[in-house]
Amino acid sequence: MRFSKMFGKTLRQAPAEAESASHQLLLRAGMIAQTAAGIYSYLPLGWRVLRKIEHIVREEMDKAGGQEVMLPVLQPLELWQQSGRDAAFGKSLFTLTDRKEHMLALGPTHEEVIADLARRHVQSYRDLPLMPYQIQTKLRDEPRPRGGLLRVREFIMKDLYSLDADEAGLHESYQKMCQAYKNIYARLSLPALMIEADSGAIGGKDSHEFMILTEDGEDEVIHCSKCGYAANAEKAQFTKTGSNAESVLPLEEVATPATKTIEEVAGFLGVPSRQTLKAVFYYADGEFVFVVIRGDLEVNETKLRNNLKCSDLRLATEDEVTEAGLVAGFASPVGLTGAKVVADDSITLGANFVVGANKPGFHFRNANFPRDFQVDLTADIALARAGDACPKCGGRLSLSRGIEVGHVFKLGTFITERFGASFLDNDGKSRPIVMGSYGIGLGRLLAAIVEQNHDDKGIIWPLPVAPYQVHLCPLSLDKPGVAAAADNLYQELQREGIEVVFDDREDSPGIKFNDADLLGIPLRLTLSPRTLQSQSVETKWRNEKETQLLPLENLTVQVGKLLNKAVKAQS
Ligand SMILES: [Zn+2]
Repeated sequence: MRFSKMFGKTLRQAPAEAESASHQLLLRAGMIAQTAAGIYSYLPLGWRVLRKIEHIVREEMDKAGGQEVMLPVLQPLELWQQSGRDAAFGKSLFTLTDRKEHMLALGPTHEEVIADLARRHVQSYRDLPLMPYQIQTKLRDEPRPRGGLLRVREFIMKDLYSLDADEAGLHESYQKMCQAYKNIYARLSLPALMIEADSGAIGGKDSHEFMILTEDGEDEVIHCSKCGYAANAEKAQFTKTGSNAESVLPLEEVATPATKTIEEVAGFLGVPSRQTLKAVFYYADGEFVFVVIRGDLEVNETKLRNNLKCSDLRLATEDEVTEAGLVAGFASPVGLTGAKVVADDSITLGANFVVGANKPGFHFRNANFPRDFQVDLTADIALARAGDACPKCGGRLSLSRGIEVGHVFKLGTFITERFGASFLDNDGKSRPIVMGSYGIGLGRLLAAIVEQNHDDKGIIWPLPVAPYQVHLCPLSLDKPGVAAAADNLYQELQREGIEVVFDDREDSPGIKFNDADLLGIPLRLTLSPRTLQSQSVETKWRNEKETQLLPLENLTVQVGKLLNKAVKAQS
């Protein structure tokens, strides 16, 4: 590839909106370009990287027993209504109407299409297991696209679906896929951590995410260094402290003027915040919900949403709180009627709590559950935080940020049952197919590789996914012999099958070296009047400081050997 002809120019400065390192560097290197919010074009260099990632992913899927298919982006909305997941996806699902007034969805994922195929093509247990997969564009109307390729509305994903006869089969397929994912991350030099995750809109019981821990990550990961427990903060559990051994005292109203927050009330009454109960108000699918949680804890909205089995959850507005007959800052479950009350199980870990009296300037002391108030549902809806006790070993939990680079789900039978996707077992009995779903966003992988492999000058591509292997950088092209020697070398490298970018621009060494560092191609070859004098070429690895001189004679063979050695060292 001749640099002067390349579609996509390097930029000295990243556009102001670029936040993460990968976003800035991919834009500056001319590898991607934003077309609209959360919608990107891949330019030639970026697309070459994506194709290499795709190749590695495909190889590992095939090795694990996957069969590649291609499913439609346009899906009849009826399929989504049949699974019931149109509601779970809500506004994330792009929909449209065709000229015959049929409603269609643009596929954000393909469980429905697979279940529909399975009901027509799987008859007997002998047809199972199956692992169809595809590598294709997905569309999701993200509310807040950001971070370059990290959170987008259109993206390329590898999605594989496992179809099994029973839970044991699903477990085996799940293990196979987890291993395939680990192989992929190893080949991409990504230190991915497998963690427990929430299934979200996809559904199903068990689910794991693969995370790259990095400060720019959007997800929060809770982990225990003592026993290795790791979970997405949305899902993470912890051991709550406290007991209710204390003797129960009579309910007593106390004046608490000018105290609205938990801290103010606790401070005013001289009790720790874990001795108080906090009220938080939500709207869940249009219904007002009163949430009670111990004052030292925070609500985990994912856990709350799962327990309420709702798709739309938001905090109630001040007006809605007033309309529900509550006094904000002094709201109370004591004496409350007409609202759904959900409590965190921490209300059972302690006694004689301070709680609002639903009267401006007043609280109750010694509120006890269930003596003084009733709830509709008690569950774990608390957010795990750094310093909390590990649910497995009691060790201290810590919190890191991470980028999700893979998500696997044990779906079970909830979709296949609704679709009537069943098979005859060896007793001739009809049973629903047991399904799993396994996704990897390829653009996410690309961004994560950059997040993990860069310095202040630019990207440092791992050799297996680098857009090109060699960056040929001749200096002083106007000096005698340089252009001819460089051109000759460019042709020879290509003949050897080596992927090479030829910087044929008549720019200064400073500009050329800066661009070489920005693009991050692993091996740089510099040819100049000085190196030509000694019939040699200077070599430099992007991830090393030292340079080395190699004789021009037989150079392509030497370069081939260097690349092979580097590939072996990485694998
Ligand atoms: Zn632990």
